Amino acid sequence: MKVGERLMKLVSRHMTKEEGSDGQRFTYRKGSFAVTLWFEYPAKADGNGQKTDGCGTLRGIREAIQADIDLGELIYIMDESENELTVVDNTEDTDRAIRYVSHDKITPTWLEERIVTTYSAGWYDQAVDPCALAEYLSRTVDKHILQTLEYIVIVSADTECDWDELFPILEDRHGNSILEVCDLPYDGVGIHWAEYQTVVINLGNIIELSKELCADGFSDVATETNIGVITTVLHELFHMAQNDPYAPEELFQGLPVDPEDQAEAWARKTFEENGGYVLAK
Ligand SMILES: [Zn+2]
Repeated sequence: MKVGERLMKLVSRHMTKEEGSDGQRFTYRKGSFAVTLWFEYPAKADGNGQKTDGCGTLRGIREAIQADIDLGELIYIMDESENELTVVDNTEDTDRAIRYVSHDKITPTWLEERIVTTYSAGWYDQAVDPCALAEYLSRTVDKHILQTLEYIVIVSADTECDWDELFPILEDRHGNSILEVCDLPYDGVGIHWAEYQTVVINLGNIIELSKELCADGFSDVATETNIGVITTVLHELFHMAQNDPYAPEELFQGLPVDPEDQAEAWARKTFEENGGYVLAK
């Protein structure tokens, strides 16, 4: 055996290699000595030639979770693939399962698949167009806000009928029915179920409020309903980000400190900057 080969054999005995979707990590360890080399693959470029976030954010979250696990937090990884990562957070004794999705997977199509409209909510004159809503959110909302999203549910004023329809559909990551423990918003315009990364809007109540606003004839019901739908969805999505233990702090900078004011200020700002129309007619 040549000296070079012998050296390689010696090195490889103490060398471990980890293959990630975004690079390779070689660790040489002998006794108390260890050195790690990280070879990152070139970042993927999107259509505009810009660097995309891709799996980089997911890797960062994975590392932050691992750091918490190493600290002895009651957290574990339930499921992991190239594009997704499900962590179970039991620090508050709730077995809350949170799925993180890599940002390049959060497309209009993916978002549209998360939107559930009940039969009666689809029958209003001011029904929501799920395709338009998905496209709008994909264009205007930071992917860090959407990275844990499970469902956007649109219900009608007939919440009892909607409840029966949704009960078998809405499941958490453990396969349990969410409606066993959560109530649909009977009175309000929207709600965020913090344990389930799910937002619900009551389109029936938004339409009723819009009709009241239009009673003086200065606006029309579709215009007011559209604003109500967009700002409510955005407001509840921001609550979801507030409840994401691995959301970056930058999301909250420059906004009011109170969570309610914060969600509302961000929703208003996003709508004012982007406008948008998400109703079917
Ligand atoms: Zn709120």
